[in-house]
Amino acid sequence: MNILTQEQTEIQKAAKDFTAQHIIPKAAEYDKSGAFHAFLLEAAKPSKIFGMAIPKSFGGLEYSPLTQALVLEEWGYGCCGMATTLAASILSMESVMLAGTDAQKKQFYTPMLNGKIGAFGLTEPSAGSDVGGGKTTAVKTAEGYTIHGSKCWITNGGIAEVFIIFAQTDPKAGVKGISAFIMERGTPGFTVGQEEDKLGLRSSNTVFLGLHDVKIPASALLGKEGDGMKIAMQTLDLARPAIGALAVGLAQRALDECVAHMHERFPGKPFPGQALQFKLADMRIQIEAARQVLHHMMALREAGKPFSEESAMSKTYATDVAMNVAATAMRLMGSAGYTSNVGKLMRDAKVMQIYEGTNQIQRLVVARAVLARPKVIAPKDAAPTEKAMAK
Ligand SMILES: Cc1cc2nc3c(=O)[nH]c(=O)nc-3n(C[C@H](O)[C@H](O)[C@H](O)COP(=O)(O)OP(=O)(O)OC[C@H]3O[C@@H](n4cnc5c(N)ncnc54)[C@H](O)[C@@H]3O)c2cc1C
Repeated sequence: MNILTQEQTEIQKAAKDFTAQHIIPKAAEYDKSGAFHAFLLEAAKPSKIFGMAIPKSFGGLEYSPLTQALVLEEWGYGCCGMATTLAASILSMESVMLAGTDAQKKQFYTPMLNGKIGAFGLTEPSAGSDVGGGKTTAVKTAEGYTIHGSKCWITNGGIAEVFIIFAQTDPKAGVKGISAFIMERGTPGFTVGQEEDKLGLRSSNTVFLGLHDVKIPASALLGKEGDGMKIAMQTLDLARPAIGALAVGLAQRALDECVAHMHERFPGKPFPGQALQFKLADMRIQIEAARQVLHHMMALREAGKPFSEESAMSKTYATDVAMNVAATAMRLMGSAGYTSNVGKLMRDAKVMQIYEGTNQIQRLVVARAVLARPKVIAPKDAAPTEKAMAK
């Protein structure tokens, strides 16, 4: 049963066509060179797809969360390096959506609607999973703030026009002293370091950012001083399912590559053995389960219900499935797998278990939610007494 609306089906088809025309033919070339896929921003510009999360009142497409997931799955099917550029740009926007004034929204969204992208700068050499360990500071001045420090592994960092940067306005207050700021490319003191030479997502731009006494106006502060941790966590809750969507697309691609190989390898013959067929079935089951967890999470979000735990579950499950399905596809394809596009899929899948919060950290989020629930089975119900059993 197709539960998508007519409009969603059309958007999904348009994303599939765009992927087939622009992403798939170039993915291997850009993976090999590691160069940034600038052509993609030009190709995507007429559709305003980089503004798919932006409200219509600001000139965007205002796609629902589920519709965004459909587009991201298609892009992920084509190339997760290229799709990460879109997902990370949306990630940066989510902070402004959550906490920005109308003037800040206009400032941040306008470049996105004109073929430019954004970046989200949270991680530092001393602060990855432990977000509170950041050393970047924002000192209040008469004109605004002076930011000093650095950020690392920032997706889109070398290309983006607008940035969300997190910094300590009150270092003694720990996570309660973190604040979020909008920063524009070209602000004096803002430097882009060398690009990372990565195992996967090779055409996605990942860089170190230097912040050497960068002076920004007071109007660059998002929300209030000290709101940064809350903004970062809520932004990641909103954005993690996007990684789940890319992962579902990647896993589907791995299965499709594997099946295409099987047809070529055993033309006109029955597939050898149930063991192999069961593997294909398991891959299909896992992919569909990951897709449905993602769509359920998006439905919760659209209904205005809490979704933090489901967001963590969706990202963790989908990215683990992507890694597992890509590895299984390679195993089933033998040397043909090792020398095919499935190698790229495996390399791309690996980082998805790490970025936007590692899957271990997501498991902590889920475990905390599980343990916080009231007990549903009282011990006396779980283990009937001897007297009760004798009756
Ligand atoms: C390609 C790429 C793109 C990225 N893009 C961005 C971006 O755009 N913006 C941004 O801000 N960051 C970005 N990052 C950074 C990424 O989000 C962090 O690397 C990630 O959150 C993990 O932090 P870390 O590398 O410091 O690992 P660490 O925090 O040092 O963790 C190392 C290991 O220890 C485990 N661990 C740590 N703490 C715990 C704990 N309490 N319990 C159990 N296990 C634990 C982790 O799960 C991991 O396995 C990117 C990274 C990469 C590789």
